Amino acid sequence: MASSLPPRSSYQKKENAGLGRREMGYKAPPRRNVLSALNNGEANGGTPSMPADSGGGGAAEAAPVIEFSGREDVERLLAEKMKGKSKNDFKGRVDQMSDYIKKVRACIRWYMELEDGYLAEQEKLRGAMDSENTRHTELETQLSNAIEELKAANLDLTRCCESLEESFNKEKSEKQIVVESYEKEKQKRESAESSRDVLTVDLERVTHDAKRFSEQLKMVQDTNKRLQEYNTSLQQYNSNLQADASKSGETISKLQKEKSAMMETMAILRENNSSMGNQLESSRVSQQEAIRVKEELRKEVERLKVELKQVRDDRDHSVIQLNSLNIELRNYKEQIGKTSKECESFRTKVSELEETCNTQQEQIQTFQKHLAVATEKLKLADVTAIEAMTGYEEQKEKIKYLEERLAQAESQIVEGDELRKKLHNTILELKGNIRVFCRVRPLLRFDGNGLEGASISFPTSVESTGRGIDLINQGQKLSFSYDKVFDPDASQEDVFVEISQLVQSALDGYKVCIFAYGQTGSGKTYTMMGKPEIDQKGIIPRSLEQIFKTSRFLESQGWNYSMQASMLEIYNETIRDLLAPGRSNGFEMTSSKQYTIKHDPHGNTTVSELTIIDVFGIADVTNLLEKASQSRSVGKTQMNEQSSRSHFVFTLKISGSNANTGQHVQGVLNLIDLAGSERLAKSGSTGDRLKETQSINKSLSALSDVIFAIAKGDDHVPFRNSKLTYLLQPCLGGDSKALMFVNISPEASSVGETICSLRFASRVNACEIGIPRRQTQARPFDSRLSYG
Ligand code: ADP
Ligand code: MG
Repeated sequence: MASSLPPRSSYQKKENAGLGRREMGYKAPPRRNVLSALNNGEANGGTPSMPADSGGGGAAEAAPVIEFSGREDVERLLAEKMKGKSKNDFKGRVDQMSDYIKKVRACIRWYMELEDGYLAEQEKLRGAMDSENTRHTELETQLSNAIEELKAANLDLTRCCESLEESFNKEKSEKQIVVESYEKEKQKRESAESSRDVLTVDLERVTHDAKRFSEQLKMVQDTNKRLQEYNTSLQQYNSNLQADASKSGETISKLQKEKSAMMETMAILRENNSSMGNQLESSRVSQQEAIRVKEELRKEVERLKVELKQVRDDRDHSVIQLNSLNIELRNYKEQIGKTSKECESFRTKVSELEETCNTQQEQIQTFQKHLAVATEKLKLADVTAIEAMTGYEEQKEKIKYLEERLAQAESQIVEGDELRKKLHNTILELKGNIRVFCRVRPLLRFDGNGLEGASISFPTSVESTGRGIDLINQGQKLSFSYDKVFDPDASQEDVFVEISQLVQSALDGYKVCIFAYGQTGSGKTYTMMGKPEIDQKGIIPRSLEQIFKTSRFLESQGWNYSMQASMLEIYNETIRDLLAPGRSNGFEMTSSKQYTIKHDPHGNTTVSELTIIDVFGIADVTNLLEKASQSRSVGKTQMNEQSSRSHFVFTLKISGSNANTGQHVQGVLNLIDLAGSERLAKSGSTGDRLKETQSINKSLSALSDVIFAIAKGDDHVPFRNSKLTYLLQPCLGGDSKALMFVNISPEASSVGETICSLRFASRVNACEIGIPRRQTQARPFDSRLSYG
């Protein structure tokens, strides 16, 4: 039987082992003929009725279809037992067994079907699970993509958020600033408003007072009016009462008239009665009648009496009424009196109040006027204040602008000054750092033969006007040209104009030397010193004047200058201090002093023991110059009594500093009146004078040697060959400026010396010191200058 089952792997068995029908979600086929055979069998005697299995397994085909629909059926089958068969009834038992087998087979088939269903279901589920898995992974990837996107978006958003936060913070801080400024504005406004409010409150208070006063006035007026009304009503009532009283009086008089009429009637009746009594006797007949009449009359009288009584009562009543009315009237009158008194007092009060009111109104009006005036004034003051403020602001603006302009102008001035100095220096450099001016002095009274033998003339051609000088000597014409030639007519001022620029250079911080060269009597001293006593001041006083004047002017630009003057002479190669205290009348009392010349690396020169004097104005220098001229060594020569045999050196050290710009300058102005350059033979000197002359010639020669060596650019410049050149060493060469005046005597007797001087000047004129200036060839060296 086992072989008839389909082969099943142990795996399948295992897999299905734990799967219940419900767990697998398997749906059982519809329950049909549920164990109908079984049931039938039971019903028919406890066993399922099956056709007899005639031929083993083949008999099953004919058997009724047995179907299983659930576990219960199977359990029932398992619980089935052999019934009612004796041990020997094999046939019955076999039948029963075969039936049972059939049922078991059916059961197994059912199980197999069920398993197949389960397997199919499992496959289906596996497929579904796979598809679910793929879907799940797809979803996962989608989800991770989405997460990535979300992360990126989140990052973007975070950045955006940060930038927004930043901008928000910025906005916030700006807002804060704006809020602060707004707060400030607000405070200002509030303070303004509070002051305005105070004023408004004052105004309101005053207005309120005015209103209150007018209300009081109105109230008083109202009270007054009401009192007047009350008064008139009282008067009306009074007049009514009076009218009533007069009416009552009228009634009383009417009643009295009636009474008197009654009395008259009574009198008439009494008369009638007496006549009747008289007639009684006469007429008894008519007595009865008369009694009746009498009775009637009596009745009438009675009635009349009653009436009278009535009238009297009425009258009494009226009188009482009248009396009470009179009392009332009196009361009223009293009341009226009282009221009118009250009225009067009220009136006085009213008038008093009115007066107060009036005065208060006046006061109010004056207050209002004052207020108006004050308001006007306030307005005016406001306007003025605003105008003043705007004016002030404008002025401030202007001042600021002007200050700016001033600063600009100042800086421009400083720049301009710098530029001017540079340009000035450039001009001077272009002109040459050593220049030569020639000056011809006029003929003097005692100059014997004048210009007759030799003649000096000044060319008038365009290029040489003011620069050329021609000399005719023994029919030979010699032409010279210099930077400038002054003819005899040139004044001291004309000369100074030409050198004033050099003096300015000294103020600008350069070292300047101005020499006067020439034979004795040619006008050196006149050129340098001049004759101040007859207003012919020379270069020295004029330079000093210019220096002091300009330094004063430069003070306004922040410059502060200090000047030191010294004067010395070099006589026979010996320095003499012209300002030494012990000196008088030209000779030094103590000659022990050793004036040693020293130069420091900065180009400053000091002469030991030399007197140096601080000068602050031209007057100081004039005194010194006078003293110096007194001290000068003066020797007599044949040519000029006053002829100086020494070199005179005036030195002014100028140091300037500018606090505004921090600039410092240190200039030196040397003005040198050289000793006479005449040759030995002419002065006719012997002895001391010879020695003097030799010394002078040696030093002048040394000067020319120095100038020429500098001009040639020699490595060695013989500064030490003379005291003069050594003293002036820092002021010769470099960017220092030098000017040589060559003074010429015009008279014929001096022609030889004149020619020498002009030749010397020409050689110097051709020299270049510092920056090259001209391409002029130096003339051949004048051997005369080498005095040996
Ligand atoms: P040096 O100093 O060269 O010896 P001075 O200056 O003493 O010569 O001059 C000699 C004389 O000539 C003096 O009397 C002086 O007044 C006069 N003198 C010189 N130059 C002129 C001039 N340009 N104009 C007028 N007088 C002059
Ligand atoms: Mg002289």
